[in-house]
Amino acid sequence: MLPTIFQQAVPVLKKLEKAGFEAYFVGGSVRDHLLGRTINDVDITTSAYPEEVKVVFHRTIDIGIEHGTVLVLEGGREYEITTFRTESAYTDYRRPDKVEFIRSLDGDLKRRDFTMNSMAMNGDGLIIDPYHGKEDIHNRLIRTVGSPEMRFTEDALRMMRAVRFVSQLGFSLEPSTLTSLREHSRLLEHIAVERKTMEFEKILAGQWKQEGLNLLVDTNLYKELPGYGAELKALADLPGLDILNKDQAWLLLLTYIGEADVQGFLKGWRLPVKMIRSRSKELEILKERKSGWTKTLLYHAGLEAALNVEKVYGCLEPSSAVSVERVMEQYRKLAISSRQELDVTGTDLMAWSGQKGGPWVKERLLEIESAIINESIPNDKEEIRRWLATCNRL
Ligand code: ATP
Ligand code: MG
Repeated sequence: MLPTIFQQAVPVLKKLEKAGFEAYFVGGSVRDHLLGRTINDVDITTSAYPEEVKVVFHRTIDIGIEHGTVLVLEGGREYEITTFRTESAYTDYRRPDKVEFIRSLDGDLKRRDFTMNSMAMNGDGLIIDPYHGKEDIHNRLIRTVGSPEMRFTEDALRMMRAVRFVSQLGFSLEPSTLTSLREHSRLLEHIAVERKTMEFEKILAGQWKQEGLNLLVDTNLYKELPGYGAELKALADLPGLDILNKDQAWLLLLTYIGEADVQGFLKGWRLPVKMIRSRSKELEILKERKSGWTKTLLYHAGLEAALNVEKVYGCLEPSSAVSVERVMEQYRKLAISSRQELDVTGTDLMAWSGQKGGPWVKERLLEIESAIINESIPNDKEEIRRWLATCNRL
């Protein structure tokens, strides 16, 4: 039986077939199905032209009609339906100058990057595999459809995609694909940073990221990525990476960047501001953590940052790191985990002292917060008031 995600989409294929067209599942979902991996989304390919797809379905959105893609809403779900197409005349090593809609499935499968991504499956689960993707999956090989030289020259991003599949699947590059990738790595310079970053993040998230990173270095692709290069080499060399998640891998990478350059380095990858802020904060915490966790450091880190920091510290200093469970336990034992939990407010302080508000309120609250975190006093309104009175701070 087909996995549920396909079963739910079968009516979409049937509707197109009933209208006289061919329609198949294609690409990543078919590959992941054969691998027994979780399927994220199912892409559909069809002989119907976009205008014809729009006649078959009631609810559609044009999301990339010039490339043949229509978004269809069916059974409460969204499906990207793309017309069979060929791509031609790549003059800039990135995008085709022209896409042409065609009526044959084989022509469409031929334009796809790797054999494992060039399989189609009909609604009965029958797999159409003219480029022997199944066999390559069986042998855990990533092989371009047709000449690697041509395919990498047409679109240099495919080289990054090859490496990210190594990191996600633990496959190897078929020898002539690898040789060609080495020869053409320079072409990656023509690809927009944002697209390289998207693939690089998938490399960092992969279960086999060590292999992926080593391959980036080994093929010289890393020289066409933002940054200085040395940090990527250092990261690839460090054992034990595979247990890190993407954020932790970024953090580890930052430890190899000179302090003054961290912001510029992250901006060079065009990463979101929020992500830049989180990693920069974690980097500061990591530096302090080297002399051990204190209650104050844990409190100011917050649980998520503390766990990221400890995981990375564990890669850098395996003998002196503590377990993530230990950090969690220490964190749970903190008297408070955020300022909102303080049993006093600025209004209380003003009422007790009879003074007007001003910078002193914030200062006093910080002192109270620190005393509570260090367990000099309990987080209890009356106790806090007594403590303030004894130290003449009211
Ligand atoms: P993921 O599971 O990460 O989404 P995917 O294989 O589905 O992996 P997508 O980027 O979603 O990757 O692309 C969908 C399909 O489109 C691929 O499986 C492949 O057949 C084709 N494809 C994507 N990018 C390229 C490219 N640069 N050159 C040729 N074919 C491509
Ligand atoms: Mg996909």
